[in-house]
Amino acid sequence: MQIENFIGGEFIAPLKKNYLENLNPATGKITSKIPSSTKEDVEMAVKAAQNALPNWSQLSIDERIIWLRKIANALESRKEDVAALESMDTGKPISLAKRVDAARSVSNFEFFAEHAENLIELNYKMSDATNYVTRKPVGVVGLITPWNLPLYLLTWKIAPALVMGNTIVAKPSEMTPLTANLLCEILTSIEFPEGVINIVHGLGPSAGQSILEHPNIKAISFTGGTATGKIVAQTAAPMFKKLSLELGGKNATIILDDADLPNAAKGAARAAFTNSGQVCLCGSRILVADNIYDEFVTLLINEVESMTIGNPSDENTDIGSVISSEHMEKVLSYIELAKQEGGKISVGGSKLTLPPPNADGAFIEPTLIEGLAIDSRCATEEIFGPVASIHRFITDDEAIEMANITEYGLAGSVWTSNPTRGKSVAERIDSGILWVNTWLHRDLRTPFGGVKSSGVGREGGDWSLNFFSELSNICVKEE
Ligand code: NAD
Repeated sequence: MQIENFIGGEFIAPLKKNYLENLNPATGKITSKIPSSTKEDVEMAVKAAQNALPNWSQLSIDERIIWLRKIANALESRKEDVAALESMDTGKPISLAKRVDAARSVSNFEFFAEHAENLIELNYKMSDATNYVTRKPVGVVGLITPWNLPLYLLTWKIAPALVMGNTIVAKPSEMTPLTANLLCEILTSIEFPEGVINIVHGLGPSAGQSILEHPNIKAISFTGGTATGKIVAQTAAPMFKKLSLELGGKNATIILDDADLPNAAKGAARAAFTNSGQVCLCGSRILVADNIYDEFVTLLINEVESMTIGNPSDENTDIGSVISSEHMEKVLSYIELAKQEGGKISVGGSKLTLPPPNADGAFIEPTLIEGLAIDSRCATEEIFGPVASIHRFITDDEAIEMANITEYGLAGSVWTSNPTRGKSVAERIDSGILWVNTWLHRDLRTPFGGVKSSGVGREGGDWSLNFFSELSNICVKEE
């Protein structure tokens, strides 16, 4: 299969005719060739987006909401294809791709349609005047997304950008381009207005960087690693572009001494190993109260040992491959480092060789490590794989201090039979998203984003609609 860029409503080959190979990480086989786009391709996409802007931005919000619902319906009818392509591109289990990736890609459009429908415009009355807060689209916006939740995260940005009247130049990860391409096929099938959504495939330093640098792209919404986020900020901030940065994490799962331990063990295992630990919100540092430590860790190990690792296409598989053999080597090198840092592998710890068709796949056993210092590299750096460390604490204050020790501040969860205690512990953790007795339980109206090196800004609900709008205040003096 060879895919092309989607510019001005057409599938177009990259101008320099260079292509990259795209692999299925669970088999090691090449599945497709994708454009290795350059500045010139981005230029063409920006022109198409600029041409489409007047008509799209002049539609009423109700007309744009109708388009969002049309996309949602068309995507819904291709959900099985979305899941199959996502599983093939990422190596994630097909059941997870159906339940999470495909479902959320549809619900992102449904949610933002409904949320925009209920948007209340603000007026502030003074004794002698009224302030009217008005919205305009930002213009052409640039969206850059990672490989772990490909269409889920791309549509999480596309839907609010569209409904607020912007036109789009987007670059999905070069590792996972296939569902973005499917979205373009769907847009064609519903005769979506040409040039409103443009997709340019390729590498970060060329295609991605050209999006960041383009003077006619007025806002950048980026989700990816913290190191890349710094480059994004360095490039876009001096150009005064609006910026949203959703970056890495090293999140704590805190098991308090009064937790329902079997339930907490299930939750902690899910938080650590969903998508092979390749979710920015994954709980990769498990902090456990000293007096329940042994009992909890036994339950946790049982949970991990009951996970089925295997062919992602098998409906019973819980854990598939990681994203690439290079990433597998990076994760394995962290496991080696953990041993040098004094860690003891409690479960897992190795590369896994599966029978054909997965013999060349990038599989790693879900791995738990005990005995690491809380400030060791393995306990503080983002590994982004199926590896979690377990640490003891005595008091709640100590747990909070341990949770806050990293440079990151994205998410975390607290497990306790006392929700009030859980909430007050959560309030003292320096992170943007905290859960008590649950994990990844999402209401799309709520603010989503990190503090410290985990990002700048918030997405979700009104936060996304505000990011993709320019707000003006018009103060009208009354007689
Ligand atoms: P990455 O930073 O390597 O790449 C993300 C995107 O940026 C890709 O499309 C890539 O091609 C592009 N890119 C790379 N260099 C660029 C440059 N110089 N200019 C412009 N674009 C460039 O991240 P990844 O490895 O794809 O994803 C994993 C990371 O994403 C992890 O750190 C994870 O925590 C993070 N992430 C964060 C969230 C969140 O919401 N906070 C969600 C998912 C993933």
